[in-house]
Amino acid sequence: MRRVTVFGATGSIGQNTLDLIARAPSDYHVVALTGGRNITQLAADARRLGAELAVTAHDDLLDDLRAALQGSDVQAAAGTTALIEAAARPADWTMSAIVGAAGLAPGMEALRHGATLALANKESLVTAGPLLMATAARHGARILPVDSEHSAIFQALAGEDIAAVERIIITASGGAFRDWPLDRLARATLAEASCHPNWDMGQRITIDSASMFNKALEVIETKEYFGIAPDQIEVILHPESLVHALVGFRDGALMAHLGASDMRHAIGYALHWPERRDLPVARLDLAAIATLHFHAPDPARYPALRLARDVMHRGGLAGAVFNAAKERALDAFIVGRIGFLDMAVVVEEVLTAMSSDSGLIDAEISLDTVAHVDHLARVRADEAMLARTL
Ligand code: NAD
Ligand code: MG
Repeated sequence: MRRVTVFGATGSIGQNTLDLIARAPSDYHVVALTGGRNITQLAADARRLGAELAVTAHDDLLDDLRAALQGSDVQAAAGTTALIEAAARPADWTMSAIVGAAGLAPGMEALRHGATLALANKESLVTAGPLLMATAARHGARILPVDSEHSAIFQALAGEDIAAVERIIITASGGAFRDWPLDRLARATLAEASCHPNWDMGQRITIDSASMFNKALEVIETKEYFGIAPDQIEVILHPESLVHALVGFRDGALMAHLGASDMRHAIGYALHWPERRDLPVARLDLAAIATLHFHAPDPARYPALRLARDVMHRGGLAGAVFNAAKERALDAFIVGRIGFLDMAVVVEEVLTAMSSDSGLIDAEISLDTVAHVDHLARVRADEAMLARTL
């Protein structure tokens, strides 16, 4: 029986993970499930799966969680420290599916305890890639990618030597606004940005898909996880979202990974790795699909992709700046404070302002320095937004 823990269990990736676990309950012992404000869901899943522990990230919800778990054997805990303690409980496999920079510390703690970390939280690699990879190596822990593109690359690389890789191509659907004229984007609303044409995901990543910030994070994630040079990573628009990534080798061969737009494939691959097991995902009927489209992204439309290149070339803690500024700008877009196109403007302003501070950006990457830079970047983003709205 494998001991499993799921961080962000109430979210989109978390729920898909629990769906797979619940299909074979006798194979798993659920150690801990964590969530945010959705206490009803968290408690119901913890009871149903017989978890040892349920943790909400919010201290003020501890009483609610306790009440919801009354009469069960599930322990309740709340707050950031409780999340770290949950990560320290022995588990064989831990899903990292908190959204945002908050996912880094629990994932790091799980690695320190040698767990296999299924990593959906791409922000961990963007903010602290070298630290995460070194921690895994030091503790004999393994990180398995869960982002669909990175799972696809990982699968295409099975049995291959990374030195034989010429380039990695990740696909992007283009998100909600791929067919919109550029001048309409400035007036895009929250509701419009929150609908993805192909994938059913959490709200934040759905908006990041429309702005291409999600792909920008994924380009950096590719560099950090696979250790290849920035100019070996390409992005191509592929509206059908059926080819998830391609790996090009030095002999000219391209290995593509195709599958339905269902995250249970990548999650299930990481859950069962190195085996392949039956997964409840649709099988592609290529004759019915008939045509796949690909085209190059327009740089004027997607400044986030250019910013990702700047971040990779700058290195150090630039990824932490980029991610934090993006998270703050996204918060502001969600509450209607700034427009859709303003997000990239704000992020670029913060990156430009902070990148020249080499004492800050080139400091050793640790949880403390990442948290420090993250905080400064959020303050900077707030200042930039204030200046824009006055
Ligand atoms: P979501 O918003 O649906 O769920 C996020 C989860 O994290 C919830 O359980 C929420 O309670 C928890 N959470 C939010 N803020 C928190 C905080 N500050 N502290 C602790 N817990 C917190 O998000 P999602 O779409 O499932 O995405 C999760 C992660 O997976 C993200 O990093 C995302 O980029 C990545 N990812 C998601 C998909 C997808 O299909 N949804 C695909 C690839 C990668
Ligand atoms: Mg992805």
